[in-house]
Amino acid sequence: MAASARAAMAGLHFLLVPLVAQGHIIPMVDLARLLAARGARATVVTTPVNAARNRAAVESARRAGLDVELAEIAFPGPGLGLPEGMENVDMVVEREHFVAFFQSVWKMDAPLEEYVRSLPRRPDCVVADSCSPWAAGVCARHGIPRLVLHCPAAYYLLATRNLAKHGVYDRVADDLETFEVPDFPVRAVGSKATFRGFFQWPGVESLQRDVDDAEATADGLVINTFRDIEGVFVDRYAAALGRKTWAIGPTCATGFDADAKAGRGNRADVDAGRIVSWLDARPPSSVLYISFGSIARLPAKQLIELARGLEASGRPFVWAVKEAKSDADARAWLAEGFEERVRDRGLLVRGWAPQVTILSHPAVGGFLTHCGWNATLEAIAHGVPVLTWPNFVDQFSSERLLVDVLDVGVRSGVTVPAMNLPPEAEGVQVLSVDVERAVAELMDEGPEGAARRARAKEIAAKARAAVEEGGSSYADLTDMIRHVAELSETRRHERDASAVAALPAAPDL
Ligand code: UDP
Repeated sequence: MAASARAAMAGLHFLLVPLVAQGHIIPMVDLARLLAARGARATVVTTPVNAARNRAAVESARRAGLDVELAEIAFPGPGLGLPEGMENVDMVVEREHFVAFFQSVWKMDAPLEEYVRSLPRRPDCVVADSCSPWAAGVCARHGIPRLVLHCPAAYYLLATRNLAKHGVYDRVADDLETFEVPDFPVRAVGSKATFRGFFQWPGVESLQRDVDDAEATADGLVINTFRDIEGVFVDRYAAALGRKTWAIGPTCATGFDADAKAGRGNRADVDAGRIVSWLDARPPSSVLYISFGSIARLPAKQLIELARGLEASGRPFVWAVKEAKSDADARAWLAEGFEERVRDRGLLVRGWAPQVTILSHPAVGGFLTHCGWNATLEAIAHGVPVLTWPNFVDQFSSERLLVDVLDVGVRSGVTVPAMNLPPEAEGVQVLSVDVERAVAELMDEGPEGAARRARAKEIAAKARAAVEEGGSSYADLTDMIRHVAELSETRRHERDASAVAALPAAPDL
């Protein structure tokens, strides 16, 4: 980096305010590392439970000499009737807590305000998650420049924006009526169920207005993606919003040491070294990794079909099963005797898995994924072809991008979110025979599988190049920081000018 650019960045202080969800905190902590690597200071502001989960990742960044830190602010949940400590979306299992959880999130502005007031010096910029629009008022009151970070794909952002703008959501008869996304760079067909907005749920719809307002008034937009795969969607979205927009990802493609990889988002419920040894003993590209991210939970019968299909596939696998933390849970959620029967070739991680440690291992040749955007980027950045199994909101869009646009995936056959299935389906839409077929197709060693693997490796090389010096995401981040440096300076002058204007006039002598 040029000395002048580094000088502009040195001394800048960023406050990063993620939504309290794993898929939002993890990329925000990544962004903190990236900013600190450019000479800035970055403080991730989150609640005590989430700070504890991410402390190891932040400590490892500090050991690497990066000026990254965590700041804790209270979560207002208990005041709204939520259990003490329920501070992350992945802890909300009961439906009745869902609305109160987001109402609590929206009340985080008061603790953020208190924290900002306690600082000896005004920060130069707040980067707030698109789902943290309540940070906008705090920034406005203190004259702090504010950027919005989007955690889903630009594909999804543009599609849902166009659907809302053209009134498609209001026109359809029900969740399942199909339509084509208007004014979109590629042909994309789906339904409201598979193009649902983040806050298109009963009880939280009104929050979307705040999200839209905060985005429309932001000093710029940051998207965790890269131009080689999403350039056209990023440009069209930036043009539609009329705001400066930077594609700075994939944040997961920047170098992590073994500790930082294993501690991403939480302490793993298994020794990462044990998984690595297990994978070391397998041939390259032979293992399937299975995870549904931090939130999605499969209906019990569907989980059993999946287990049977994996067993019938005969392939080695690592499966992160958060539904089966205890032995009793494992018996209830997995096929009877499953764990015993697959012992020689199946490794179950009961709880939080060190996902990037696994995906970056050469023995892993396929990823059965729920298509969360972070999981999608992690697969892309590590060149692992995917078996797509979306569950809700943006995950169906990520599936389309992976399979229809990038051609690095095979569909499992899921067509709608489980809540849109008829009751007689009992939550099942992929039978064990379909799982077996899809796994065979994905892990195929013939020409089709080889071509898919080669495409995935090619895109991974582009992802890494994008975040390295000279790459498009690297350049976008440089431009973003420069923009913040200028804005911060302008705001300081404005504050000084209004402070002078507020002074009493000097008496005539
Ligand atoms: N993750 C992990 N271990 C797990 C489950 C998830 O490290 O056992 C990480 C995963 O690598 C990703 C994030 O948690 O970075 C989940 O975000 P994503 O967007 O993939 O899905 P979500 O959990 O938001 O549905």
